[in-house]
Amino acid sequence: MAIYPPLMPTHPRMFTAAVVRTERISPTFQRVTIASGGLADFEWRGMDHWFRLFFPLQPGGALLLPEVSGRQWWKSYLRIPESERPHCSNYTVAAFRRTGDAAELDIDVVLHWHEGALSGVAAWAVDASPGSPVGLLDQGVLFDPPSDTEQYVLVADESGLPAVRGILRDLPSDAVGTAIIEVPAPGDVHPVHAPEGVQVHWVTRHDPGEQVGHRALQALQGCPTVRAKAYAFVVGESSLATQGRRTLHRAGLAKNRITFSGFWKA
Ligand SMILES: Cc1cc2nc3c(=O)[nH]c(=O)nc-3n(C[C@H](O)[C@H](O)[C@H](O)COP(=O)(O)OP(=O)(O)OC[C@H]3O[C@@H](n4cnc5c(N)ncnc54)[C@H](O)[C@@H]3O)c2cc1C
Repeated sequence: MAIYPPLMPTHPRMFTAAVVRTERISPTFQRVTIASGGLADFEWRGMDHWFRLFFPLQPGGALLLPEVSGRQWWKSYLRIPESERPHCSNYTVAAFRRTGDAAELDIDVVLHWHEGALSGVAAWAVDASPGSPVGLLDQGVLFDPPSDTEQYVLVADESGLPAVRGILRDLPSDAVGTAIIEVPAPGDVHPVHAPEGVQVHWVTRHDPGEQVGHRALQALQGCPTVRAKAYAFVVGESSLATQGRRTLHRAGLAKNRITFSGFWKA
């Protein structure tokens, strides 16, 4: 039986929207803004609210979306003929704005290259023209601290930056803790809105061949004492997520106080 994150909607909704604009916001991030009237019904919960993004693989192609029944959509997705099946990847709501009867949503896409060319969603994000259709399947939030949490420990690479930035923005103003964010380039470091009691440590990689997440793990090992009633959220490249969890557990934090998720695999 599938195990679903506790805060995932039991009847996730599929929304459709169109690209409004796309812009490079830093060396590694492309921000794609989508909008529609239907998005006004999206119940944005802030924090790391995420969704499955669908778009046609062929520019100008029609968007065929899977049927959603309760939490089931994958089998219907696979029934779409491969030549017409949309691309599907997971993304975080970087920002959400209501605009009269409609709404706009920003997606901050990490640009990653394969053999010198942009690949996957990154290529779409850079090239998407206004009006390009997208589908968006609401998946809720992963961040789920116990009610007695006394300290927050947030760790992410660039793929988890939109999630950690959203959590920092929405934590209670008296929250205390540490956030460690690893990014590829100094130009990806931007001021974040965070409670005064949460120390935000940016770590940047020194060369493109470096193992993603290594510097974030080093920073985590040098982190102040983790309290028994801390709650940790560790996301990003798969090894960062698993090793981050191991490091925190060895430091005395119970496994059920750690949310960890491999957002992608190197
Ligand atoms: C809950 C959740 C929220 C997420 N939010 C965001 C977000 O807001 N922004 C964001 O950019 N990503 C986010 N991700 C990660 C994103 O889903 C993955 O990076 C995804 O693999 C990208 O799809 P793709 O089609 O570009 O690459 P894929 O087709 O999945 O992979 C193709 C190749 O690209 C490589 N690759 C994939 N992602 C990266 C990366 N980030 N850096 C370097 N190489 C990579 C893979 O190793 C593979 O070799 C999130 C993931 C999850 C689970």
